[in-house]
Amino acid sequence: MLSRILPRPGTQSTGIFKQVYNGLFNNQCLLCAAPCETGHSLCPACFAELPRTTPCCPRCAAPQPHGLVCGACLKKPVFTRAIIPFQYTGQNLRLIHLFKFNKRPVAVASLLSELKSQLLQEKQKPDALLPIPSHWRRLIWRGYDSPLLIARYLKRHTGIPLRHALRRIRHTPHQLGQPRKQRLKNMRGAFRCRQDVRGLHIALIDDVYTTGSTAREAAQTLLKAGAKQVDIYCLARTPEKF
Ligand SMILES: [Zn+2]
Ligand SMILES: [Zn+2]
Repeated sequence: MLSRILPRPGTQSTGIFKQVYNGLFNNQCLLCAAPCETGHSLCPACFAELPRTTPCCPRCAAPQPHGLVCGACLKKPVFTRAIIPFQYTGQNLRLIHLFKFNKRPVAVASLLSELKSQLLQEKQKPDALLPIPSHWRRLIWRGYDSPLLIARYLKRHTGIPLRHALRRIRHTPHQLGQPRKQRLKNMRGAFRCRQDVRGLHIALIDDVYTTGSTAREAAQTLLKAGAKQVDIYCLARTPEKF
């Protein structure tokens, strides 16, 4: 029965799929099966053990002692603020893969809740949430838009409106493993701004921040179009500096 409801586990451990099923229907922690609160996917003990990004640079969330602004952001600032609570490692990686590739938003309920709390704590709240758009070819291939789902969740809980001000006009190859110069070159001109964003404080929304080249290009497109400030909100970030 379960195998008919849930996808084949593939390379994942089989246990997690049963746990997702329990999380969906029995309100149990996805990692240890202890009872958890409504709207959460993890019990408080498992949640406390998730690898966090802090201390990190407040502008790009790169690991940084004492939470100081990192050298790259001092030299060429793009984002004013980065809110990325978790590291893309350990259990976070497993949970986000279930969300992104197995289309199970319930797997990241606790991570989303933390992202929302941090957004609500910000003194200067953004005027608009902007999910980073994927190219239509990737959307058709994947059939799922995870940045849009995150942005809709944040909108529902904060009241900040969504703005689909960017269009992805070029399909770009996966960026991991490519040298920095090449990544930046690949992304140049990948977006077009199609709305008036002059004077707006915009929060870009993505699921995972890896090399940062996509988010940086999106931010630069908005800044060139007159946006006042661009922040980046993601669930997780790779711990490496790029
Ligand atoms: Zn647990
Ligand atoms: Zn930084």
